[in-house]
Amino acid sequence: MSASYCVVGGGISGLVAAYRLRLAAGPRAQITLLDPADRLGGVLRTERVGGQPFDVGAEAFIVRRPEMLDLLDELGLAGRRLSPTGTRPLIYSGARMHQLPQGTVQGIPAQASSLLGLVDDQTVARILDERARPLKWTPGADPSVAELVGDRFGPQVVTRSVDPLLTGVYAGSSTTIGVRSAVPSVAAALDRGARSLTEAVREALPPPSNAPVFGAVDGGYTVLLEELRRRADVRWAQVTAVRVDRHGRGWSVLDDEGASWYADGVVLAVPAPHLPLLIEHIAPQTAAAARRIRVASAAVVALALPGGTPLPQQSGVLVTAGERLNAKAITMSSRKWGRRGNVEMVRLSFGRYGDDMAANTGDDDLLAWSARDLNTLFGVTVDPVDSHVHRWIDAMPQYGPGHGELVAELRAGLPPTLAVAGAYLDGIGVPACVGTATRAAAELVRGGVAR
Ligand SMILES: Cc1cc2nc3c(=O)[nH]c(=O)nc-3n(C[C@H](O)[C@H](O)[C@H](O)COP(=O)(O)OP(=O)(O)OC[C@H]3O[C@@H](n4cnc5c(N)ncnc54)[C@H](O)[C@@H]3O)c2cc1C
Repeated sequence: MSASYCVVGGGISGLVAAYRLRLAAGPRAQITLLDPADRLGGVLRTERVGGQPFDVGAEAFIVRRPEMLDLLDELGLAGRRLSPTGTRPLIYSGARMHQLPQGTVQGIPAQASSLLGLVDDQTVARILDERARPLKWTPGADPSVAELVGDRFGPQVVTRSVDPLLTGVYAGSSTTIGVRSAVPSVAAALDRGARSLTEAVREALPPPSNAPVFGAVDGGYTVLLEELRRRADVRWAQVTAVRVDRHGRGWSVLDDEGASWYADGVVLAVPAPHLPLLIEHIAPQTAAAARRIRVASAAVVALALPGGTPLPQQSGVLVTAGERLNAKAITMSSRKWGRRGNVEMVRLSFGRYGDDMAANTGDDDLLAWSARDLNTLFGVTVDPVDSHVHRWIDAMPQYGPGHGELVAELRAGLPPTLAVAGAYLDGIGVPACVGTATRAAAELVRGGVAR
């Protein structure tokens, strides 16, 4: 008899897990994917805006990690990889634009000159002096980024240089993200005995390179999702899973319409807040660990502006907290990836950890704020030819101090033929999700389910 699987959650994590299971278990295995959404992909979602495919969730992926590049290659989609044009982002801080500091690791400088103009003279002096001050570091420690960087370089480096970058990735801040997750190479250098933060960052800096840091998929992430779905050859049940129970040597997954889906092995690829309800009676330690993972929400506004709208030649703007703007980040997508057609595509993101901006602001207000923020930043009056608003509620896990141990505890509580995948485990970005989903499928196969 051939193997049967359920994959709960059809974001990139669930789709990659399903595809890997198909590869391992062959064409006869039965793979059911449960997801109630109107389409598969979760936070990867391509809409038509201004007549063009436009990603309103994740829009890019980091190319220093191999997973996405390998996956595109494997799926015959390498030719669809888009590289950015090379325009650079700005930071908006103190009601002024600044170049994004160079020679930093996630905004943590290796030298004071990187932050000239962005921070005050006192802070520059403090950065210069940092190597002379003794540093207490216990190998394996995982303080928040704010704790470490604030202590060594002062609060302005935290709020003006580091936070804008961390907010872009996690919708969180240096206070909600641990050093080991945000800057693992810096933590590793400190573990190896670096005598100051400056020295650790210098060790951790990648060699200077003109190679692009990001990539995207030409045509939008939908191209990747469709190919994964085709190759995974899943049966998609458009329902919410509400409970997983033991059933003989396998599992039964109960959905919100009262149907039960039987499987030898299950991959749970739902966001952390959705996990406990499904498994607390069979894996209480895992459920308890998942509950401790905090999440943030974000709203994305996509605007198609008339061609020729005078936007600067920059890829975007990261906004420090406390400025008189509502957006936390603006991407000038047509500048970043190259213009298509006669529109200028712009994307604004709203919402930081701890605020309810994304959940509780109506579309009209978000659109009005977008127009006002673009006017404040660039002095342009925008008149969009098209727009789209999307909310991502509780979609961004916070990798707080001690996250690695928390995840180890979460995984240790799982029975052998249940596996987890998702953005809250080994990294929030799409490449990390691909890697974690591959691991989840391999765990089921190793657990003896695939025949
Ligand atoms: C606004 C935003 C911008 C981002 N930008 C980038 C970027 O540019 N680059 C990058 O690398 N990363 C980015 N990320 C992060 C990355 O996109 C996500 O971490 C990743 O896509 C998450 O994938 P996932 O499959 O783990 O979860 P999700 O995409 O959240 O998918 C989970 C799925 O589970 C389903 N589900 C939930 N509960 C149940 C249930 N009980 N039963 C069945 N199904 C259920 C949901 O419907 C959903 O489809 C961004 C994230 C956000 C929110």
